[in-house]
Amino acid sequence: MKVLILGSGVIGIATAYQLALSGHEVTVVDRQPAAGLETSYANAGEVSPGYSAPWAGPGIPVKAIKWLMMHHRPLVIRPRLDPAMLRWGLSMLRNCTSQRYELNKSRMVRLAEYSRDCMKELRAQTGIQYDERMQGTLQLFRTQAQLDATGADISILQRFNVGFELLDQDGCIRHEPALASVREKFVGGLRLPGDETGDCYKFTQNLAALAGKVGVRFRYGTTIVRLQSTGDRLVEVITDGGSLTADAYVVALGSHSPLLVRRLGLRLPVYPVKGYSITVPITDASGAPESTVMDETHKVAVTRLGDRIRVGGTAELAGYDLKLHGARRHTLEHVVSDLFPRGADVARAEFWCGLRPMTPDGTPIIGPTRLSNLYLATGHGTLGWTMAAGTGRVMSDLISGRRPEIDLDGLTLERYSAAYA
Ligand SMILES: Cc1cc2nc3c(=O)[nH]c(=O)nc-3n(C[C@H](O)[C@H](O)[C@H](O)COP(=O)(O)OP(=O)(O)OC[C@H]3O[C@@H](n4cnc5c(N)ncnc54)[C@H](O)[C@@H]3O)c2cc1C
Repeated sequence: MKVLILGSGVIGIATAYQLALSGHEVTVVDRQPAAGLETSYANAGEVSPGYSAPWAGPGIPVKAIKWLMMHHRPLVIRPRLDPAMLRWGLSMLRNCTSQRYELNKSRMVRLAEYSRDCMKELRAQTGIQYDERMQGTLQLFRTQAQLDATGADISILQRFNVGFELLDQDGCIRHEPALASVREKFVGGLRLPGDETGDCYKFTQNLAALAGKVGVRFRYGTTIVRLQSTGDRLVEVITDGGSLTADAYVVALGSHSPLLVRRLGLRLPVYPVKGYSITVPITDASGAPESTVMDETHKVAVTRLGDRIRVGGTAELAGYDLKLHGARRHTLEHVVSDLFPRGADVARAEFWCGLRPMTPDGTPIIGPTRLSNLYLATGHGTLGWTMAAGTGRVMSDLISGRRPEIDLDGLTLERYSAAYA
């Protein structure tokens, strides 16, 4: 079949690669000059099935009020008259019950764990490199209250069979020796040894190159303007460079997905949640992190990427605005300088922001639509890279007429049909 993939982020590229391996004639379309230049460009660098959990959970509304008032705040809301933001926010609040949290988490874990297995296979088959490390991730607690509150998280990890280690100060320093110089700043940590780290942009770029070798074609610098349907089929994609047609189409446009499918009568509950990162050169490797250290107080992840450190965090509700706010940079600089004072030169930081394509329940939307040849691979939110390799395999199986290796119950748009159709 001829398949058109709309979007060359990590999700679109992972899907294109798998479809080409299955023998399809695949073309990827993107407005950018290369793959992975929007949200997949400078994320926090975690491949973290262990932390796959929705942001909406019990107690979050109260915590959110506290976060909004912090000096180095992890949550920022820029109020605007935006019905989509309001609808999304209310739906997120409805997902803050224990029951919904458990259900949503179980769906995310199903895809994330499958994705981890697919990623391992991909590495074994291709030798793809992306500053990868397989040294787990460490959630660092600055207060005893944070450490004491891990009980609920631990019981969830146990229920989902995720390996973990609860560590005291010395235990944290054993895995992250640079923390020895700031041991008075934390009381302990929770380590997930099965998690991995790396550079999502390098991964996307290198996978795009591999996809090219198995026949995928790329139309970069091409903006998609409109999708055209007739009856129950998508018939063409209208771009600023002309019209494109295929037998099947995959929407992998990240946060921009809802804008383009709306005209087809599909309401996607995906809203942009802006996040920021800085990438800083390492000045002294012995003062830098070995893997990811997640500062629980500031909700900021500090990750080693080869000879650089990536520092990422913040959830900002501001629509599609991509303005870089200096206050957010200060928070990221504060965390890395506070925990790794000898590690990095923050004066040479590359400052970036991206829009997480978030669903209210944290779970992506992958699978078919009511148009027989239109598929969705979007809404991957906080952990899109973590779920990319598995998403690619699921999409390829579906479009090739095979049964996906994981159950898609609760992962497709159908779960929203009542509220959003
Ligand atoms: C600060 C931050 C930290 C994060 N940390 C992590 C992490 O540690 N681990 C993790 O797994 N995930 C993380 N994420 C989430 C992850 O980065 C995203 O879920 C993922 O990149 C989404 O990929 P995507 O392919 O869906 O979207 P994108 O990468 O945004 O790709 C969508 C593509 O569609 C194209 N496009 C959009 N509209 C049009 C149009 N009209 N015409 C043509 N092309 C168009 C864009 O150019 C873009 O290339 C983080 C995100 C942020 C912001």
